[in-house]
Amino acid sequence: MILHLRENLEPESIEAIASDLQATVVQNDPYPVLICSDDNTPEEKYDKDIQDVYEFDSDVQLSSRDYRSETRTIEMDSFEIGGESTNTLMMAGPCSVESREQLNELIPYLKETGLKVLRGGCFKPRTSPYSFQGLGIEGLEILDDVREKHGFKIITEVRDATHVEEVIRHTDIVQIGSKSMYNHGVLRACGETNKPILLKRGFGSTLEEFAKASEFILSSGNPNVILCERGIRTLENKTRFTLDLCGVAWIKKHLNLPVVVDPSHAMGYRYGVPDLTKAAFAMGVEGLLIEVHPNPEQALSDAQQQLTPERFQSLHKTLEELSSATERDLI
Ligand code: PEP
Ligand code: MN
Repeated sequence: MILHLRENLEPESIEAIASDLQATVVQNDPYPVLICSDDNTPEEKYDKDIQDVYEFDSDVQLSSRDYRSETRTIEMDSFEIGGESTNTLMMAGPCSVESREQLNELIPYLKETGLKVLRGGCFKPRTSPYSFQGLGIEGLEILDDVREKHGFKIITEVRDATHVEEVIRHTDIVQIGSKSMYNHGVLRACGETNKPILLKRGFGSTLEEFAKASEFILSSGNPNVILCERGIRTLENKTRFTLDLCGVAWIKKHLNLPVVVDPSHAMGYRYGVPDLTKAAFAMGVEGLLIEVHPNPEQALSDAQQQLTPERFQSLHKTLEELSSATERDLI
C-alpha cells in the first residue's frame, strides 16, 4: 500500500507514522511517500496526515500504471527519455571494455552516428569462471577517460555487491545484469543513489518477478529505473534466448517505467540483431542497447553477437529513416 502524506509534516510525525506502520519512506519531496504492507492499514488517527491511499492487488506497486499512469521521465543532463518525450535512446558499444586501443578504434564510428551513451562492461557476469571476467576498476578508469575526452555518457554493469559503490561512482547509468536481477544487495545499493539504473530481466524470470525486482530499487528511494528486455530462456535453442516482445507490450501497458530492448543478447548471433532492433524500435521503446566491437571475431566476450562498426552504422541509418513512420526520435 502506498501512502501520500500531507506536505509540510514535521519530520518527527513522518517518522512516527512510518515506524507505527512499519513503512518505508520512499521520498520526501514534494510530499512524503510511504510504502507498507497491506496488513498495516493506517488507523483513523492518521487521517489528518494522509492525503491519498493507493491499494493494490499485488506487490507491483510503485512501478504500476495504477499508481502513476504516465511513464516516468529519466533525465540525463541534456536529454531525457520517458514522460512526454518520444525519444528512443541508442546505447551501443562493446560487450566488454578490453583495452584503450579497442575503444579508440571503435569510437570514431560511434561518434559519426551521434551516439550519446557508450556501453562497455568492466565486471562481466560470465557463465564460466575461466572466461574473461572484465578489466574491473582499470576498465572503469578507461571509461572515465572516454567520457572526458569524447563527452559520451557511460553505461556499465555491476556484477555483485563487492564493487557496487565503485560502479555507481564511475558510471552515468548503472546496468544490473540479467544474472543479478535477484541480487538484493545490488538492488538495494542501487536504490540509494539517484543515478538511472537499467535493470535487465533475469532470463528465467516472469514479468511479475521482473517488476518486483524494480520495486526493490524504487522503494529504496531511487525513482530512476529503466527496464531492459534481453531475452528469456524458452524451449528454443537455435537462438541464444527468445526476445520477449509480448513482455515488452505488457510492460508498456502495465508499468510506468521506460523500457529498453537489448536484441544482441537475445539473439546471440549478429545476423538477427538488425531485424530485432527494427522491430523493437517500431514498438516505441524508450531505448536500445546494442553490442558493437571493432573486431567482433576477436572479442573476449560475446564474439558471435557483436556488430561490426559498419553494420551498426547502416542499422543506425535505417532507424533514422524509420523514425517518422514510427513517430519516434532516435537520439
Ligand atoms: C551484457 O550486457 O554484456 C550482459 C552480460 O548482459 P546480460 O546481463 O543481459 O546477460
Ligand atoms: Mn555481452
